[in-house]
Amino acid sequence: MKYARNSLAKKPARNMDRQRSRRRRWHFVSNDKIVELVPTGNTPTTPYDTVFDGSQHVILPGLINCHHHLYQTLTRACPVALNKPLFPWLKSLYTVWANLDEEAIYISTQLGLAELLLSGCTTAADHHYLFPQSVPNAIDIQMQAAKALGMRTLFTRGSMSLSVKDGGLPPDHVVQDHDTILSDSERVIQTYHDAKPGAMSQIALAPCSPFSVTPALMKDSATLARQYGVRLHTHLGETNDENDFCLEKFGKRPVAYLEEVDWLSDDVWLAHGIHFSEAEIATLGKANVSISHCPSSNMLLASGICPTITLENAGAIIGLGVDGSASNDGSNMMQELRQALLIQRLRYPANVITHDKVLSWATNGGAALMGRTDIGEIATCKQADLALFKLDELRFSGHGDAVAALLLCGAHQADYVMVNGQWRVENSSLADIDLASLIHQHQAKAKVLQNL
Ligand code: ZN
Repeated sequence: MKYARNSLAKKPARNMDRQRSRRRRWHFVSNDKIVELVPTGNTPTTPYDTVFDGSQHVILPGLINCHHHLYQTLTRACPVALNKPLFPWLKSLYTVWANLDEEAIYISTQLGLAELLLSGCTTAADHHYLFPQSVPNAIDIQMQAAKALGMRTLFTRGSMSLSVKDGGLPPDHVVQDHDTILSDSERVIQTYHDAKPGAMSQIALAPCSPFSVTPALMKDSATLARQYGVRLHTHLGETNDENDFCLEKFGKRPVAYLEEVDWLSDDVWLAHGIHFSEAEIATLGKANVSISHCPSSNMLLASGICPTITLENAGAIIGLGVDGSASNDGSNMMQELRQALLIQRLRYPANVITHDKVLSWATNGGAALMGRTDIGEIATCKQADLALFKLDELRFSGHGDAVAALLLCGAHQADYVMVNGQWRVENSSLADIDLASLIHQHQAKAKVLQNL
């Protein structure tokens, strides 16, 4: 079994437990990388000084979340938005989100990342597209907030420029003008994007959706992103309402619209990707576009089921995303794997949607979606991002296959999580955050924002 029970060792050497090394596979971690994998019965060649006994754990590559809106953790189960499909749901929440301030963005970023990290996620993308006038520096605040968690992040500089007065969905006071968006996008890339292998911080550009940005902003964002070699992200194919909007506003369906604005390319990933025709799937696959499948959000907003395997067979890359906590109401990456397995089996056979397939979407699929070859896998020379789960809870008792049990029995909390060679979760607790205090501040802020 690829992800069998294991032990971890960190070099250089002081003590060596040869007894253990004969029984289990060892993972050697040096600084930020995995430097050696030693099969059971073989003798490690790498000296080390610290041993972690993982014999009671299932060790997975750190999970990769491809789509989120961290600020939305402040509007979970928000009364004005309950039980609505996407467009009415958004219209209810735009005016609530318009009141975000610096503290709200800082706290919600920390809380959402903490929830992800505790569920075994080591790399998280976030799509922040709301910049109230009082918070033009939202990405800077997110960067500061993320530092304390020590997670690998891909923050996207989102944007909205098409408001109601121009035929868009969001109200006028939550959008920004074209030039402001582009100049801040360039500043954020220059300040925070690290293109090197092992990067902890990357930036992408992310105009929000066809119904909230202008075609000119889509085009100019693509030009700017390619000038700096950063990726592009947007929502697409989420609902039939979006198809109707694009036909009415632009005279074409969303995939034809993407082509017109120069977004049919392998540096693009789309959130959701549900409502495509066969020809559109072939077009997306030919361009090697990536899709972040967001199963919980799709079920909660009654949006539909992403044709993952059909997209993948056409050439698209599939990753998984929890989506904003307001459309999922949870940011638990491991639970999202279970949701993906269950919903996809309504569309494809059980022997196609296996637990290994879903796990691959959440690991090396997510890495490929982000254009990274240094994460998403337990292999030598990869970054040491690991999620360790125990199977000693009531829900797992009686299990056979340990990896399948994580998805089928409903694992939801990692016991240990390593990011870039550093323990960030130990004994199911965050290393550097006072979680009780964070929850207290976050709930208080949510009450003010939701006017409860
Ligand atoms: Zn989203």
